[in-house]
Amino acid sequence: MTKKGYKRVVVKISGEGFSSENNVIDKDGVKVMALELKAAHDLGVELAVTVGGGNIVRGNELGLLGVNRVQADYMGMIATVINALVLQDALESLGVEAHVQSVIEIDKMVEPYNRKQCLRYMKEKKAVILAGGLGNPYFTTDTSAALKAVELGAEVLLKATKVDGVYSADPMVDPKARFYNRLTYSQVLNGHLKAMDATAITLCMENHLPIIVFNLRKGQNIQRVIQKEPIGTYIGE
Ligand code: UDP
Repeated sequence: MTKKGYKRVVVKISGEGFSSENNVIDKDGVKVMALELKAAHDLGVELAVTVGGGNIVRGNELGLLGVNRVQADYMGMIATVINALVLQDALESLGVEAHVQSVIEIDKMVEPYNRKQCLRYMKEKKAVILAGGLGNPYFTTDTSAALKAVELGAEVLLKATKVDGVYSADPMVDPKARFYNRLTYSQVLNGHLKAMDATAITLCMENHLPIIVFNLRKGQNIQRVIQKEPIGTYIGE
């Protein structure tokens, strides 16, 4: 690890990071993401990756289609386990030892989430992929990423997205949307800015954990953000 970089981070990758326009799971895209994570891992950072499942199931969307919301959310949590296994496979094919720890226990495929064991893996410089969200319906993997980052004593929560950071409006829709380099938690909450959900922001605020929202699709951004290069939007005090 270079001296200037973070030593322990939690990276949140949404389901959309796994998919492309035509594929729910885009093998080539996942490979690029895994190569980036490997490069970050090779810097010597203690790394846990929390994965979402929105490319496969979003509970609220299925709920609107008439599926019982709680059932739909459990399906969403299982979707996160699927993405975690996809990422584990991609990392292992690059020679990175990666452990999946899930809050939803499926003992033939994944390890149960255990904070101490997770920290042990991280200190041994093995990648850990965290799945299952919080294990409760009506929550999101943003909130579980925030909680895990706090629990694991990460210095920062890195939220990977498909845009450069936080904007005043959706930059894919509004070309006049203003980009923010730096925001306080209160500005995000009061301005209803689309960074992470409000529960996640509040949890980070209460625990003084900074968040950096950055673009996953731009080459080497994961390494760059871990080395504290000023990319994306920094959310803090
Ligand atoms: N989910 C849940 N509880 C959690 C985390 C996730 O019920 O603690 C469900 C919820 O239905 C959600 C889905 O899993 O829509 C996928 O997670 P999320 O939407 O956070 O994925 P992302 O948007 O990051 O791809």
